[in-house]
Amino acid sequence: MFTRRKLALATGALSVLTLARAQAYTPGAGLEVAKYDRPGEGSVNSFLLIGPRSLVIVDCQRTTVEAAQVVAHARGTGLPVEAIFLSHEHADHVTGLEVLHRAFPEAPILAGEVTRDWIARSGQELIGMMQGFFPGRVPDRLPVPTRVLRPDERITLAGAEWRVDQLGRGEASGMTLLYSEANDVLVTADLCGNRATPWLLDGHTLEWIAQLEQALPRYAGVGTALPGHGAAAPAGVLIREQIAYLRAMEGLVRDELATATPLSPAAAQRIRAAMEARYPGFPRVAPQPNLIELNAAALAREITGG
Ligand SMILES: [Zn+2]
Repeated sequence: MFTRRKLALATGALSVLTLARAQAYTPGAGLEVAKYDRPGEGSVNSFLLIGPRSLVIVDCQRTTVEAAQVVAHARGTGLPVEAIFLSHEHADHVTGLEVLHRAFPEAPILAGEVTRDWIARSGQELIGMMQGFFPGRVPDRLPVPTRVLRPDERITLAGAEWRVDQLGRGEASGMTLLYSEANDVLVTADLCGNRATPWLLDGHTLEWIAQLEQALPRYAGVGTALPGHGAAAPAGVLIREQIAYLRAMEGLVRDELATATPLSPAAAQRIRAAMEARYPGFPRVAPQPNLIELNAAALAREITGG
């Protein structure tokens, strides 16, 4: 049974974003963006890209509870769902997909090839693991994306033209970005969060930093970035802040490793204390309470090749 507090925690919120270049819209033909999330630890964004005649759902939440709320908000627009887009394969963005797919069975499921292949290969295993974490709140299956997005492909979604940008291994196995030049909007997904404690457990954080540095000159001027976690903001701000966070973490791990290898639990705790002092109140993107220590250990293994 839900207590009042649990019910409050389980209730997410939808907010309609003000886009930086709203004045450039053709009246009646513009794009609106709404962000859904359930605030707190483990919070993750879904976006509704709302066009004049249809909408596209970006990312699907972890659990049936949150995914059902995304469905309700999508239905609330009164528009047909044109497509469901997955930015990458991480559980917080995909394990609610079955709920959305059942609600909107006609909508193609879009993803990059790496994401599609990962889900085809490991989706069922991911579902089993997540059902262990959230008993009774994770769907039984993870549908495989039905339409692969190619690098640099141009695609019309929600009445706007988007360019597909695919980044290789970094925060995840692959990350698909969508950029609408006319609307000055970039779906960055987990290329960068906004004031969130990131997930470094895929073990490719140095590649992620290099990716961010490559993305910065390309997207520094984009007015609205839609991150996987936290509020929308100018892309240059979010990309720079993500680089600074990861570089700070890397510096602390390297300093500890210069004293002792492998990284000890005490060293990981010192890193957590230093990061929490520098970045206070950054909610974790995943439920693990010791995420910063786990991140430090993963980054140490990556640096030492262990
Ligand atoms: Zn995420």
